[in-house]
Amino acid sequence: MTDDAAATPTCLARPLPGPHDGGTGCAAARGVDGRPLHAAALKFFWGPMDCGKSTMALQMNYNHARQGRRGLVTTRIDRSLGPRVTTRIGLAHSAVEVTDGLDLRALVRDTWAEGVRIDYLICDEASFYDVAHVEQMAELVDGYDVDVYAFGLATDFRSDLFPAARRLFELADEVARIQVEVLCWCGREGLLNARVVDGRVVREGAQVVIGDTVDTADVRYQVLCRRHYRSGDLGPRA
Ligand SMILES: [Zn+2]
Repeated sequence: MTDDAAATPTCLARPLPGPHDGGTGCAAARGVDGRPLHAAALKFFWGPMDCGKSTMALQMNYNHARQGRRGLVTTRIDRSLGPRVTTRIGLAHSAVEVTDGLDLRALVRDTWAEGVRIDYLICDEASFYDVAHVEQMAELVDGYDVDVYAFGLATDFRSDLFPAARRLFELADEVARIQVEVLCWCGREGLLNARVVDGRVVREGAQVVIGDTVDTADVRYQVLCRRHYRSGDLGPRA
């Protein structure tokens, strides 16, 4: 982004119906390559469990909405097990459940067809999406000029990248680690999501198993520093 572009007022009222519009109004504000000076972007915000990703997702949705922008919130396997984004500090928002067959581009096009413009997507729990969904996010940015803000874990309980997270690291215009620190029981910064079954750290099993971070769950997750993730030490309270 050049200084000139940064000085141009952000265009909030892009004309319908969307991709490759040659329409009026803000469409005049284009760079030398014909792209709108408001260049849409794919951004991936990542962090361990409990670091406030969903809270930040809903805050971002609120910030954009109050500026007159229109967006959709999507999620997958939210802990409430419904089509909602819920947060550990009590916020909630209705959301579109991302299923295997859902095409995010079609979701945007269908919404446009109803006469509702979409300026951005907030994609919560994005590490649980398919790689194909990430490709669709990139196309929404490049071909539809829709901003996509994805939030999710980077690594699974084995400390391997989730496939969708890997693709987001590869494709995103911007990647940011969420700066709310989650501490391991030892006081070091928590980095990794350990899966705990019967009081022990497990390292094999399905990549996605629903659990919670409360102590009473059959399968629970605990954020640990790398040292204690590797040693499997859950601390004095475990
Ligand atoms: Zn530790």
